[in-house]
Amino acid sequence: MDVVPTGMRGLRACLVCSLVKTADQFETDGCDNCAEFLQMKNNREMVFDCTSPTFDGLISLMSPEDSWVAKWQRINRCVKGCYAVSVTGELPKGMKQELKSRGVIYKSRDTSVKS
Ligand SMILES: [Zn+2]
Repeated sequence: MDVVPTGMRGLRACLVCSLVKTADQFETDGCDNCAEFLQMKNNREMVFDCTSPTFDGLISLMSPEDSWVAKWQRINRCVKGCYAVSVTGELPKGMKQELKSRGVIYKSRDTSVKS
């Protein structure tokens, strides 16, 4: 099933995979790609911790297998849906450690920060 935001209000982007949905959708279903390690379902606090309302460039990913966008965004194994090109914000430190302990490589999607 495709994941499409139900409206433009309250849109947030996942800090890990950059999937864009409304806060309500994240709270109801969690993140479709990160459900394994981000327990956002029915947990509004986690939704606010792990997603950001500030993002740039919405791309619609409909055929992840052969999309150049998907390869560029490293999301070719993710669900179909809308993704942000750049997500501003960072996961809380505790969440980063949690991801690391699960062997998930987290790379900030915040391209506005020059390191
Ligand atoms: Zn995610």
